Amino acid sequence: MLHVQNIEKYYGSRNNVTKALDRISFTVEDGEFIAIMGASGSGKTTLLNCISTIDAVSAGSILLDGESIAELPQSELARFRRERLGFVFQDFNLLDTLTLEENIGLALTINHADSHTVQEKVRDVARQLGIEGELAKFPYQVSGGQKQRAACARAMVAGQSLILADEPTGALDSKASKNLLEIMTRMNRDMAATILMVTHDAYSASYASRVLFLKDGRLFNELIRGGRTRPV
Ligand code: ADP
Ligand code: ADP
Repeated sequence: MLHVQNIEKYYGSRNNVTKALDRISFTVEDGEFIAIMGASGSGKTTLLNCISTIDAVSAGSILLDGESIAELPQSELARFRRERLGFVFQDFNLLDTLTLEENIGLALTINHADSHTVQEKVRDVARQLGIEGELAKFPYQVSGGQKQRAACARAMVAGQSLILADEPTGALDSKASKNLLEIMTRMNRDMAATILMVTHDAYSASYASRVLFLKDGRLFNELIRGGRTRPV
């Protein structure tokens, strides 16, 4: 479970301060699929960077499964990100010199899992995401939709607690976008993936079970699937 409590984020110094996040609080329960929407400059990337430990909050706290991100020593951050968080980016972020199989298994390999276990886990998740036949290929040999499915597989293969997706359909055409969103829905529903997705695209957000709206660094309301919009 992710607990974001009253976080604030300022950029700049004394005379030139930008308040990028202003007292943001929300909780993501295990098994949720949440979208965060907002116009450009509303703070979406900053929020994601704070949760992913890339950026430090100025105030407030973020807990993942009870562990406070701000209190992790620098030396623990890389391990924390690798073991607990999965990332899906607009531009895929796959390593060009590795096959899809090697890309997907990287976090497990770095953690010294034995090669048989890695292979089994990678094949299992790849089969569920429909890219089993592409595992021996390099990223340049597959379509955008297949690259993004490989990124999704990588994001959950090690049993990560939370998948952070930043505009995952941003580089895909509408058919591949629909395909990916259906895959993400399946990951959420059938494979127990908890997903936090940032998007400015209403179509993508319509797949989420809950949508949080950011405006000028503040969370101003949320929409629950099948329910009403309510102010927060
Ligand atoms: P979004 O992802 O919704 O477009 P951002 O999180 O990128 O929004 O930006 C939120 C606000 O913080 C904006 O006003 C932006 O200009 C400012 N900002 C973001 N990153 C930095 C930075 N590194 N230095 C200064 N200001 C920043
Ligand atoms: P998807 O909808 O799953 O993303 P597409 O319909 O776009 O797949 O692509 C079908 C096939 O064409 C794929 O199996 C892939 O091997 C090949 N293909 C598509 N785009 C590319 C590309 N940019 N480079 C190499 N192969 C591609």
